[in-house]
Amino acid sequence: MGLFEKKDDRNRNKCPYCGAIFEKLPKRKTKCEKCGEECFIRTTQTIFNSDILTQEDALAADFFKELQYLGATVNDYLKIEAELSKKWGTKPKSYDIVWGVSNRLVGHPPEIENDYDKRSSILHHAKMIAFAQALYQLRRGHDPYSYLKSVHNYEIQLGTIGGILPTYFEVETQDCCEECSKYQGKKYTADELKNNPILPIKDCTSRIEQKDYAWCMCWYGIRHS
Ligand SMILES: [Zn+2]
Ligand SMILES: [Zn+2]
Repeated sequence: MGLFEKKDDRNRNKCPYCGAIFEKLPKRKTKCEKCGEECFIRTTQTIFNSDILTQEDALAADFFKELQYLGATVNDYLKIEAELSKKWGTKPKSYDIVWGVSNRLVGHPPEIENDYDKRSSILHHAKMIAFAQALYQLRRGHDPYSYLKSVHNYEIQLGTIGGILPTYFEVETQDCCEECSKYQGKKYTADELKNNPILPIKDCTSRIEQKDYAWCMCWYGIRHS
């Protein structure tokens, strides 16, 4: 249930930058003829009363959609928006709101199947949030390194809980890049990784979505032998 589904005043033809009216309703990313800005089409997003968004809002809406899969609700969005508005005395940017929602979501997985597995559910959920944060930061033009590092930190914690203690973590490079391939099959204990985390690999040269920063695709395989 979205915020605006009951209303019929959702914007479908106005440039979100300059307010110019599109004569032909844009179906996909379109450059506004009046202001030259790129307008993004998001017809199913639930946090803006518009199908046509600025790039910043489109990225925030995409990120929020990921957070909804992880249990966030439109009410969470409204709550953080109200809190930040009060704190700052000004309307917060969509980035600050969705980022606040994502951090608040850590530790609150949508459903925990059984209490026995509670710790691993929480860690797995936190890992998914960190991964979504990494991708969001990359798409906003920021280095995702520290967020990918959190992903792997949760991976290590997950590997050290449960009935069987792993003997070591083995780097799986997935043909990431030449730099990363030097690490293929290298093995580390949890203690070694705690002091000196390996992933994401610092010198990784892999790129996704034509972005400027590295996106290391390596992960740890957990070995019990
Ligand atoms: Zn415009
Ligand atoms: Zn790499």
